[in-house]
Amino acid sequence: MKLLTNSKTLIENINSLGINDSEGLIEYLPYRYEVFNYSKEENIKDKDRVVLMGRIVSNPKIIRNTKINIVSFHFISRGNKLYMVKAFNQSYIGGIINLEDEFTLVGRFNYEKNEITLSSLKKGEIPQEERYRPMYHLPSNINDSTYRNLVKRTLNNESFHMEDYLPRKLVSKYHLLSHDEALHSIHFPKNEEDLHNALRTLKFEECMDFCLKNRIVRNRNALLSKKNDIEINTTKINEFIKSLPFKLTEDQTQAIREIVFDMKKEKLMYRLLQGDVGTGKTLVAVIALYANYLRLKQGVLMAPTDALARQHYENVASLLEKYNIHVALVVGSLSKGERKEIIKKIRAGEVDIVVGTHAVFSDDFEYVSLGLAVIDEQHRFGVNQRNKLVNKGGEVDLLLMSATPIPRTLSLSIYGDLEVSTLAKYPNNARKVRTLVVSYESKKITGLIDYCLKNERQVFMVCPKITSNYNDESAVKNVYEKYHDIYGDKIGLLHGKMKAEEKNIILEEFKKKEILILVATSIVELGIDVKEAMGIIIFSANSFGLASLHQLRGRVGRDGNEGYCILVDDENDDLSRLKFLESCSDGFRIAEEDLRLRGPGDFMGIEQSGFPSFNTLNIVSDFKMFEIARDEVQHIMFDLDDEDNKKYYNKIQNELDMNEFENKNALFD
Ligand code: ADP
Ligand code: MG
Repeated sequence: MKLLTNSKTLIENINSLGINDSEGLIEYLPYRYEVFNYSKEENIKDKDRVVLMGRIVSNPKIIRNTKINIVSFHFISRGNKLYMVKAFNQSYIGGIINLEDEFTLVGRFNYEKNEITLSSLKKGEIPQEERYRPMYHLPSNINDSTYRNLVKRTLNNESFHMEDYLPRKLVSKYHLLSHDEALHSIHFPKNEEDLHNALRTLKFEECMDFCLKNRIVRNRNALLSKKNDIEINTTKINEFIKSLPFKLTEDQTQAIREIVFDMKKEKLMYRLLQGDVGTGKTLVAVIALYANYLRLKQGVLMAPTDALARQHYENVASLLEKYNIHVALVVGSLSKGERKEIIKKIRAGEVDIVVGTHAVFSDDFEYVSLGLAVIDEQHRFGVNQRNKLVNKGGEVDLLLMSATPIPRTLSLSIYGDLEVSTLAKYPNNARKVRTLVVSYESKKITGLIDYCLKNERQVFMVCPKITSNYNDESAVKNVYEKYHDIYGDKIGLLHGKMKAEEKNIILEEFKKKEILILVATSIVELGIDVKEAMGIIIFSANSFGLASLHQLRGRVGRDGNEGYCILVDDENDDLSRLKFLESCSDGFRIAEEDLRLRGPGDFMGIEQSGFPSFNTLNIVSDFKMFEIARDEVQHIMFDLDDEDNKKYYNKIQNELDMNEFENKNALFD
């Protein structure tokens, strides 16, 4: 069914979300709800979000300056309590306030000041059926309430209907709602229970789809094989390992054994190498590439950013220099001529190893004998890698690398037959990054910078955004300006919007200590290896996932000396999540905690970095569901004569072939 609006602009803007019809609109789920259940005043604690009904009892005072506009007034709740209310930068407030009407007020409570920081104000009481207001990830050109109304109109349209597709047996066995009902309730739940039931159904559907799709891909992969004309000479690998200036860790040795063993098999390798930052994955990758070279095949190492590709290139080239192996670098900043030249050489077999960004799999790159592809930080690539590889020649062993470790209990369930090698030990024993959570005013921030400078060591300052509308420290540009005033030309700026050239120059200067402070967005999260960096300060830390923060702090203390990490955020925010990092440095536990901590309000559409991404599922708390779904998929596969089962199977297979899942669950395709 077409989208139920005549507004061309709205249609265009919605299309830009990848939504083209009413069905697509309804399948696009809220990522959280704004809940308007009225607070019980006797239970309100400091920093709680409160929803209160009451009257405004003083004329609003307005303070305005260039940066900020504050409206403040007194409010008496129905429970007869008096509060001071402050609204920051919400100019609409002045227009609706009056002393006659009752209002619903939403905000955050500060116990000490008996004050509420306003987030919204509405006339009258909110009716029961509107107390869960769905929030969608929308671009700024789509108005929230316009969008919400369109969703409502669509659901209420007589002829709109979403078909069921799970086998009926399952629906009754697990007491699920119909797909249609579940979607109604997920967009506009009437109450908590309604939401719970809808979510349970949608989760189970998604889980089944995932497991079945996984199974189909797995069956297909089992048919892929390669010819091994040339044996890998393991003596040469051992010699290479002996020639290194350090000893491999036991885990590295084990991983290399597993990888080379896989490569020698007729079956194609499909292996994940996981290990916390600094456990030495790159070296394992280099040895795999060398093994691949020894069987006279071309190899590829792909990284998510130019900077990381460059760094890998330098590593690979210098480690393999003595064998006269030809390594080429392919990044976005190559000139047309350079690119052409490389393509020619690859085609002629004059290049043995290509290191680069996703460009290495562009259509014009034709390999004569691609044998191994290593993909670093694999979760950053939302593409159908395996199919692409198969299209590039088919007989390609695949090694994925990830720094976000999968809790062991999960990997089997989620990854099925993807083999996993794990690097658990660090080369230089345990790396220690002392971590501290502070507020913006803390003297510790400049304290750490000064300490690093005194020791001639580098320090990162990381912010989530490039620019911000307010003069706050969530944006690199603001932080850069502020600290440039203090530290002058010791400080540099790095973010994703800069030209590749500029970025390289800055990074080089930072590595060479021509600048000592680097203000950057989280692009530094990805594997940047600056040996002597000592400190990292992360602003607006609460807007990062714990696993990301752990990655970020992995940038410092890489030479075996102690590193320091300061996590900065607003005192008024809940900082307990961050405090977990002060005492825990175990990547596995952090990944688990990260997933567990997501509150019931924001279970959807979150990027669970390092994991396949789901709409509704949380792979930690919904772990049991995966096990059930896996069993049910097994039953379905055994009984494809059943019409219902066959229909479902065909649907999923179809979606798989249509690449509808592109960008999702990328690991498995
Ligand atoms: P990862 O990619 O797993 O985060 P890297 O591969 O970047 O880690 O390795 C971190 C650092 O440790 C690199 O500088 C690397 O040269 C070094 N390294 C790797 N393996 C060893 C080892 N066995 N002994 C000493 N240093 C090592
Ligand atoms: Mg790495």
